[in-house]
Amino acid sequence: MTSVVGVKLVYDFDEGSRDMRDLLGGKGANVAEMTRLGLPVPRGFTITTEACIGYLRAGNRFPDGLPEEIDGHLARLEEQAGKRLGDPEDPLLVSVRSGAKFSMPGMMDTVLNLGLNDRSVEGLAKRTANERFALDSYRRFVQMFGDVVAGVEKARFEAALADLRAARGAASDADLGPDDLRDLLATYKRIYRDGTGEDFPQEPRAQLDAAIRAVFESWENRRAYDYRRLNGIPHDLGTAVNVQQMVFGNTGPRSATGVAFTRNNATGEAGKPFGDFLVNAQGEDVVAGIRNTQSLGELRDVLPDAYDQLVETMALLERTYRDMQDVEFTIEDGRLYMLQTRNGKRSAQAMVRIACDMVDEGLRTEEESLRDLVDPAQVRQLLLPQLDVANAPEAVAEGVNASPGAAVGGVVFEADEAERRGSLGERVILVRDETTPDDLHGMIAAQGILTARGGKTSHAAIVAVGMGKPAVCGVGAISIDDADGAMTIGGRRLAEGDTITIDGTSGKVFVGEAPLLEPDPDNPYLGRILEWADRARRLRVRTNADTPEEAAQARGFGAEGIGLCRTEHMFREGERTEIVQRMILAADDDARREALDRLRPFQERDFEGIFRAMAGLPVTIRLLDPPLHEFLPSLVELSERVAVARATGTPDPEAEALLPRVQQMHEVNPMLGTRGCRLGIEWPDVYRMQAAAIASAACTVKEETGDAPLVEIMIPLVAFAEELRLLRAEVVDACETVLRERGERIEYAVGTMIELPRAALTADEVAAHADFFSFGTNDLTQTTLGFSRDDAEGKFLTRYLQRNVIPANPFETIDRGGVGKLVEVASDLARGVKPGIKLGICGEHGGDPPSVRFCHDAGLDYVSCSPYRVQVARIAAGQAAVDERGG
Ligand code: PEP
Ligand code: MG
Repeated sequence: MTSVVGVKLVYDFDEGSRDMRDLLGGKGANVAEMTRLGLPVPRGFTITTEACIGYLRAGNRFPDGLPEEIDGHLARLEEQAGKRLGDPEDPLLVSVRSGAKFSMPGMMDTVLNLGLNDRSVEGLAKRTANERFALDSYRRFVQMFGDVVAGVEKARFEAALADLRAARGAASDADLGPDDLRDLLATYKRIYRDGTGEDFPQEPRAQLDAAIRAVFESWENRRAYDYRRLNGIPHDLGTAVNVQQMVFGNTGPRSATGVAFTRNNATGEAGKPFGDFLVNAQGEDVVAGIRNTQSLGELRDVLPDAYDQLVETMALLERTYRDMQDVEFTIEDGRLYMLQTRNGKRSAQAMVRIACDMVDEGLRTEEESLRDLVDPAQVRQLLLPQLDVANAPEAVAEGVNASPGAAVGGVVFEADEAERRGSLGERVILVRDETTPDDLHGMIAAQGILTARGGKTSHAAIVAVGMGKPAVCGVGAISIDDADGAMTIGGRRLAEGDTITIDGTSGKVFVGEAPLLEPDPDNPYLGRILEWADRARRLRVRTNADTPEEAAQARGFGAEGIGLCRTEHMFREGERTEIVQRMILAADDDARREALDRLRPFQERDFEGIFRAMAGLPVTIRLLDPPLHEFLPSLVELSERVAVARATGTPDPEAEALLPRVQQMHEVNPMLGTRGCRLGIEWPDVYRMQAAAIASAACTVKEETGDAPLVEIMIPLVAFAEELRLLRAEVVDACETVLRERGERIEYAVGTMIELPRAALTADEVAAHADFFSFGTNDLTQTTLGFSRDDAEGKFLTRYLQRNVIPANPFETIDRGGVGKLVEVASDLARGVKPGIKLGICGEHGGDPPSVRFCHDAGLDYVSCSPYRVQVARIAAGQAAVDERGG
């Protein structure tokens, strides 16, 4: 038995509103809202998400009371419609559709025309005086019910339809007459019996219950699961089920069905609703991209009254929702019906433009637009590469420019193959006749999507826009040869793996690798949004940058300093490697100091470059962190070299000399070995050299520019306060020595990273020796969870995420309950003894929007992230502040 007792599980459309998304799902809440607004919506009711969760938790059993509630609402619907479900004279037909809180287009199941059976189909034929229409509706129902509810392969029905067309010499389905459809129905029912062992159910109420179960269960199918994972939608929300009176777009030439956006979803341009429709067709035909659609503008010529009403309705919906809407509509014998409205998915370009336009149109305040209309993760797409049009070769084909940006990759024809090659790090373009939700995993793995059929509202286009992936659709010049694993495009034959370039901005396709341009970060709409975010946010945003070039780039994106400059790469470049090896292999302190003296000028030059690039802003430089064996040849290679040398009698003194030292330095688990401050304790001269180089560089830049850099020296991987006390003393002594020699005064701070649970838990002791803390949440995640940051991803972590053991990759989004708690504890302890201590984060989480939100909530002073995520972090920080104020 389920526990959902005494709770209302079903709502009529006129009982809900758009504020009830949690319970009614997005579709249900919006249909209720449209009903409330008095728009022409076919009647119906919504079974709640709670009922779905109850059903799934009880092992696929209806919660107590649900069947009775459905009975009550069905009776009301029958009364309103003046028809009964399954009535042999004049049957009520319903659609049964999924609808979760967050839109998951095409991921879950839908059944249309429910209520038809061998008798009611005759009633429908008589009532509508259209036998062909009635029979066609019934055969569609058998096919959809068979596929979605009973699990009979869709392809078997489609093959039967294709066979019949061929046998009758029919060019399209429309050429099949009533007698043909009767034959087809007999075949369909045979296919159904073969597939299920049962006759096609004739009892409408049993049909309805089975369809509701199927929709509940579709919450757990693979594509729905993948979609949620990709979009960060929780797995425990469940889907609502909408049961709605059918209206028909396929009753003749005055009927149509279509989908439309209230503004352009690729560019964001206002005042130009656009979409696709089909005359004399049923809903799924449009989205499936099976028939070539007409564009919305043409509807004005075909059905002018319905068109005017639709445009007016869309404008009202935009004003109501204060956001771009994506609507589904059907016109039955000239009468318009609205089936659905939702906030439309849009490209990043459209997103920033719409957010600004809605402010200019007086529909939203700046803060509301920032909070509700901007997805910071999508902002990164504005930084997607575009085709270098001036230098592009001749296109081989052209289709619909379905999702902007350009991509290069090898062609693959199957989603599984795209996933396989993608996991090996290959760049691929998924090429299909058209995509279906079953291709989702391949679309995730691909750089871009190319289809032979479908337009801007096809599945491929909508999903690609949402993912921010380039897509070109409806390229008629493509013909895919499944048997050969090859395709022809514009007369060229390409095998799997051959490289192509697609330009989703223009719709062009090129053979080979076409030149791409780095994107333009100076989008004016984005500029305005960043201003709003900067005005609102409390968190500062710095960058992780190791070179002057990166620092300058990040500054261009608005970075307010460097939160982490890793110094290890400075040891790896060119001639330095040899000096570093000498330092490591030095027989005594003098020999080591000599090597360090040679390294120091290189380091000084590096630091000067970075200080110049960040003039006037704080720069946090971290002293050497990685294990030293990383700078030596690999033990395996060296052992081989020595073995070969000895076996062949060709002496290799260099390898012989290195081997014992490399053996000595070898560690089984170097991530937990001699790295971070342990290196500094072992060889203080390394850190002294780095500190001296930093101080000298600061003096040089100050003398040059008159402006002293704001220097912060950071000691990594501290576990004990004593480590920091000792090393701080070394660093201060080295810096003061330089300053005395140079006769200069520079302010500098010395702080530490908090990367180990012990440091977090004893943060009050550690803080006594620190001017600042920077949470190194990469290592802190590794050491708190005991998940190796080098091994977990792509191995067991994948399974953890699939099985929902943890909600998100903890190396991407901070684990609030564990790692986050340590950050909070450490912050409280540190501020308890040093109220003014500066606190920041420099792990990868610093550029992840939900983690930025956490940092805001935890009261940190700044986040630091890679240059390309600086704008993302600025927006996420602004949203956190607006959200907190409830603005
Ligand atoms: C960290 O551990 O979070 C960090 C920023 O340091 P690194 O990634 O260099 O170990
Ligand atoms: Mg670290």
